[in-house]
Amino acid sequence: MSRTLQAGELVLLTDRKGRRYLVTLAEGREFHTHAGSVAHDALIGSTEGIQVRTTRNAELTVWRPTLRDYVLKMPRGAQVVYPKDSAAIMMLADVFPGARVLESGVGSGALSMSLLRAGAMVLGYEIREDFAQRAEENVKAFLGSDVSERYQLEIRDCSLGIDANELDRVVLDLPEPWKVVPHAAASLHPGGILAAYTPSIVQAVQLREACEAGPWAAASTVEILHRGWHIKEDAVRPEHRMVGHTGFVTTARRLAG
Ligand code: SAH
Repeated sequence: MSRTLQAGELVLLTDRKGRRYLVTLAEGREFHTHAGSVAHDALIGSTEGIQVRTTRNAELTVWRPTLRDYVLKMPRGAQVVYPKDSAAIMMLADVFPGARVLESGVGSGALSMSLLRAGAMVLGYEIREDFAQRAEENVKAFLGSDVSERYQLEIRDCSLGIDANELDRVVLDLPEPWKVVPHAAASLHPGGILAAYTPSIVQAVQLREACEAGPWAAASTVEILHRGWHIKEDAVRPEHRMVGHTGFVTTARRLAG
């Protein structure tokens, strides 16, 4: 049986033009756009997938947001890792349920959410307290507060060391990941995977050089190109616009010894 929408839940409202609104349902409240308003009470108690009309007769479809929807709409401190890259990182870093993962920096918590959703136990190092707080709020808003058992944040500079051992994975999104490579080598068990997201190829090259100097093998750097297609009747072609660049994903595995 489908679960009905409850007060306190997040919903995504989409309109005919593809506009998307993230709303937390509350009894007695109204959602307003330039195209009219809808009472939250009209949504509470119904199932997702319903279509409702605003006071000005605009149609809105109601969904529970996916992780991707949420990441693209949530409040941000730092720039987030985009869903296409988070998805690839989960596979390239082989994140599994119960994996012990060190993540740094934590930023807005977008990548944390993918790691937690994949079942990992995440220790996050973030140098900015305001970002760590924002990340924690975002993560709890989407995944619920039970996730705190698997999500531990510390205000620390990851380039100064990692206070953990027997890690399965180290996942980095910070400007100078090469400074973390020796600490990752000390904390990962043999076969463990280091994955780093870097907007610039120069950063990726510097990271690869740092890996050359240590107990690492199977190093690889990729970028993920994601091209949407427009499919409508006879018009079947790639979309005119695409996000041309986000970042590179570099991975390497720790050798024994
Ligand atoms: N992956 C995050 C975004 C990270 S942005 C997301 O998807 O939301 C990069 C973050 O790294 C910033 O929050 C910055 O404060 C943090 N950072 C930079 N250098 C750091 C360091 N040496 N140790 C820990 N965090 C660092």
